[in-house]
Amino acid sequence: MLDRFIIFLNKAIGKLRTSRAKPSEILVLLPHCIQNKDCDLDLTSGVQICRRCGRCKIREVSLLQEEYGFRSAVVGGGQQAVQATKDKGVKCVVAIACEKELAAGILSVLRKPVHTIRNSQPFGPCVNTDMDADSLREMLQKIVKR
Ligand code: SF4
Repeated sequence: MLDRFIIFLNKAIGKLRTSRAKPSEILVLLPHCIQNKDCDLDLTSGVQICRRCGRCKIREVSLLQEEYGFRSAVVGGGQQAVQATKDKGVKCVVAIACEKELAAGILSVLRKPVHTIRNSQPFGPCVNTDMDADSLREMLQKIVKR
């Protein structure tokens, strides 16, 4: 309940503050559980090395990254996520995660605008999770400063 409130509050604040940024200043943060569990790629530094085999939604994010030019990181937990957002070049964060992680992430990087997309859990929590790539595209169309 508190998690939902924090996400709601963040969205309300986000509408009030300018959060558009150049593609190179936008960091798209993804949870490790969205990567297919049998994939052995290390995507900590971004989804650009994805082979686009189609077993998970990283493929769609990788295609969007090629189109828009944002930064990305696939992180295993809150600490790694916070570390990734600390780079001074990052002005705006798009966080894709479950409700609990989103709320924690928002609280950790409150000084930077955080846009949120919830992932879904068709196989239960923390394994082969899914996301709506169209939502990410729509969000990018709103926040990318050309
Ligand atoms: S789409 Fe990319 S990240 Fe997902 S399983 Fe295939 S190679 Fe790995």
